[in-house]
Amino acid sequence: MKSRKVIHKRATCIGCNSCVFLAPQTWEMDTKTGKSKLINAVKKGDLYVGEIYDCDVEANKRAEKACPMRIIKVEKA
Ligand code: SF4
Repeated sequence: MKSRKVIHKRATCIGCNSCVFLAPQTWEMDTKTGKSKLINAVKKGDLYVGEIYDCDVEANKRAEKACPMRIIKVEKA
């Protein structure tokens, strides 16, 4: 079940790789831009929004806390 959404403000990502390391099922590094990408996300304005499975919520909360730019948000879908 996908009960949470993840929001990423990609433009300010510094490509530190923390989210990819902590939640590789949700994040991947885009080597062309040097920024991480939220897998299967939809662009909404200047944000990218994706839904995650319940089993991936904890890993993404860790990524949310670890992001030095504070540009990851895990919210109720
Ligand atoms: S943790 Fe934050 S700054 Fe680092 S790659 Fe992920 S989104 Fe970008």
